[in-house]
Amino acid sequence: MCVDHSMSCRCGSNSASFNFKDEVMPAEVVSGLYCPKCSGDIPYDPSAMLKDTGWIIEYDMEVARFMGQCLPSSKITPEYLFDEGYCTWRGVYPTDHTDSVCERAELIKLSKINPRQYLEEFKKWGIERMQRLEEEGWRKAREN
Ligand SMILES: [Zn+2]
Repeated sequence: MCVDHSMSCRCGSNSASFNFKDEVMPAEVVSGLYCPKCSGDIPYDPSAMLKDTGWIIEYDMEVARFMGQCLPSSKITPEYLFDEGYCTWRGVYPTDHTDSVCERAELIKLSKINPRQYLEEFKKWGIERMQRLEEEGWRKAREN
């Protein structure tokens, strides 16, 4: 089960949706969130932070180690929490969840008019979207 949480970045101009796989980690494991506008002002600490195309997630590693007692403790790093889904974007990038709902709403209108064309457009949309995200350099798009 995955629980969705939305958080604002430090400067307040952006927000991101997070997923917490199996609810192992509480939302408090995120001690800071920085969008491309505010991430430039903080010193980057790779032992507790993860950078993704201008965004930075700062983890409370003490919370992560305490809550992650069922996980292999030597492996608990920001990359591990992110890549294994214990605390990661909901979707491929920070605003994926809200953006894709809007983008899909347009397509769904088409599904009522022309279901066949809708299916084709939907497939095309998915492929083009992943290509665009990969080009933008999002961590999760690169893995695929
Ligand atoms: Zn910000």
